[in-house]
Amino acid sequence: MGKWFKKKRKRKETSSPSTEASIAEAAAPGGHPNGFPESESPSEPEDIEWIRPLDAEEPVQGSRGEDETDFPEEDSGHEEPSEESDSPGEKEKRRFFKHLRERMQKTRKGLVHRVDRILLGKRTVDEDLLDELEEVLVTSDLGVRTTRRLLDAVAERVKRRELHDVEKLRSQLQEEMRAILEVEAPPWNPRRTRPFVIVMMGVNGVGKTTTMAKLAHRMKQEGLDVTMVAGDTFRAAAIEQLCLWGERIGVPVIRQKSGSDPSAVAFDALEAAVKRDTQVVLLDTAGRMHTKVNLMEELKKTRRVMRKKLPGAPHEALLVLDATTGQNALSQAKLFKEQMDATGLVLTKLDGTAKGGIVVPVCDETGLPVRFIGVGEGVEDLRPFDPEEFVRAIF
Ligand code: GDP
Ligand code: GDP
Ligand code: MG
Repeated sequence: MGKWFKKKRKRKETSSPSTEASIAEAAAPGGHPNGFPESESPSEPEDIEWIRPLDAEEPVQGSRGEDETDFPEEDSGHEEPSEESDSPGEKEKRRFFKHLRERMQKTRKGLVHRVDRILLGKRTVDEDLLDELEEVLVTSDLGVRTTRRLLDAVAERVKRRELHDVEKLRSQLQEEMRAILEVEAPPWNPRRTRPFVIVMMGVNGVGKTTTMAKLAHRMKQEGLDVTMVAGDTFRAAAIEQLCLWGERIGVPVIRQKSGSDPSAVAFDALEAAVKRDTQVVLLDTAGRMHTKVNLMEELKKTRRVMRKKLPGAPHEALLVLDATTGQNALSQAKLFKEQMDATGLVLTKLDGTAKGGIVVPVCDETGLPVRFIGVGEGVEDLRPFDPEEFVRAIF
């Protein structure tokens, strides 16, 4: 009792219990088929193969085949952007917002409906209300630490008599969430240098390859000259998967044989990109468990080798996280941030999960900006992350 309104509550930092254990576990020796000694120099550039698509034929459709403009309105009662402002830009924004809200339905149901149930019939913000809220937020994948941060801020306002009205509690929570999501970071700007190199990282199956293709498609539409590199040489099918995407979106793919040293692939690709004055190079990588030291070392080596060819590369190292994995995504984020100098995040599969709230603690605990979110399997289902829009879509 009284924990939210005590003079000063002791903040218990919940450190990730898994981190140390997993490093220890991962330190056990283990061979890796792609293993190579540090001294080994990258193979000759003539190994590389360019897959050049003919000009993209028909426009690429989202694989879900839904009509993007027509989503059923479900619950109302939450603020939507005004229908009044009707400039083309605003219209487009509204359309995307509707799409996002629709795709984030499960998260919203998990969060908003439960919060609504608590707020129903209550008049003042008090201790009991905050306790109930705490339980809902923690179990909605916001986690203990982030929930505390949110509710501490709310309690502070109540104490200062700036907030007593339950009506305002929701907007207050939205605002606090937005503040967490608005991470200070350099703006996303692939035009700032040439070639601009982007590396995709993450564990298996999170959506690295798909996200990379979506991103390539997006940048191509923005008029950038984009090349993709098949850096996942571990799974034979991975190269084929990427070449297929290349065909679909009309973006060239640089590939080598399956099983090639991924660092060599990256090195050669950068060499080719520099020669051809390519604007953006996107490098796919093999999925790796964040707990496997040898695989993490492999990725570090790739980075070192790239820097030899192009100091400053990679300019963006995007960590891809599967939102459906909830707290697991959070521990991946912490480890990749610590070890791999990730510069930004992509949260995928926000369409199919009630765990979209995980975005908030991931930002809160890594301090990394979310650059994009994936809301479906189609090539158009990648959105630049807008904290304001996101919070309104889930809450
Ligand atoms: P174990 O956990 O050491 O038994 O490894 P696995 O049986 O999962 O995999 C065999 C070998 O392949 C190990 O040496 C791993 O390092 C490596 N490996 C497993 N999964 C991946 C992956 O997704 N990417 C890459 N590059 N190597 C992997
Ligand atoms: P990788 O192993 O990290 O390269 O993962 P892939 O890119 O191969 O993706 C694994 C699966 O996740 C594929 O079936 C993708 O279509 C799917 N996927 C990727 N992003 C999303 C997303 O935002 N939403 C949904 N529903 N599925 C996605
Ligand atoms: Mg892949």
